[in-house]
Amino acid sequence: MKRPILIIGAMDVEINFLIDRLENLETNNLNIYNVYKGEIDGYPIIISQSEVGVINSSVITALSIEKYNPLLIINQGTAGGYTRNIHKGDIVIGSECFNIMSAKTPNKGENEGSNSLEWQYVSFTNGGIDKKRTIKADKRLVNFIYKRKNIYLNGNIYIGVIGSGDIWNGEKDKIEYLNKKHDVLCEEMEGISVYTVSNNYNIPVVGVRVISNNTILEEEYDELSALKCQKFTYEVIKDLIKEINIFEK
Ligand code: SAH
Repeated sequence: MKRPILIIGAMDVEINFLIDRLENLETNNLNIYNVYKGEIDGYPIIISQSEVGVINSSVITALSIEKYNPLLIINQGTAGGYTRNIHKGDIVIGSECFNIMSAKTPNKGENEGSNSLEWQYVSFTNGGIDKKRTIKADKRLVNFIYKRKNIYLNGNIYIGVIGSGDIWNGEKDKIEYLNKKHDVLCEEMEGISVYTVSNNYNIPVVGVRVISNNTILEEEYDELSALKCQKFTYEVIKDLIKEINIFEK
């Protein structure tokens, strides 16, 4: 039995196109989550719908790994752009994922308010030093996908840090801070879970995120961006299947 490719996406608009491409489609559930099982070019594919947020995506990633033992994992969907030169329709391949909610605030007294620009990002490791940590993607997957950047005609493709956490930042100063200080290129709400759990199981993982909004540029959220990402991911998957032996070693 071949080990499947696992695709994880949060919302309907982020997975519909890919589900429609599956041959021999079967619909299942794991806990409350929808799981779509099928094939592309005869190769087994699982699409797990994480729903939104880091708790949901942790659960579905672990359940999908336990049940289907995937060969590799692609987390794809939308994200908010963090810089002036990253526009709606551009894609970020996440070489690393950074938890933008794992922070320690300075102590402040009553009526001293709150300022998230003063937060220190730490990992809260058990018994260890609380240092900043990012979770890495599989380099072969990052390069494999980046090499295909010329087939994408809806924008530019970048490799960089995906910021992830249960927050939608609308504060320009905060976004600029996370970009300048921590190199974050875009933000979303599932990657950190998918990267962490996949790494725990030693399964190659990558996040592919299309920019659907950019607060800095005042580009409003457009859910149709998600389709562009899926079309690109579909082409990537077909190529991956042709060269799947790279990952079977
Ligand atoms: N506004 C949308 C809901 C999006 S909720 C609606 O009404 O349908 C956030 C989802 O979009 C998450 O799955 C997250 O991964 C992604 N996302 C896109 N842009 C984001 C941003 N700027 N910040 C956080 N998450 C974002």
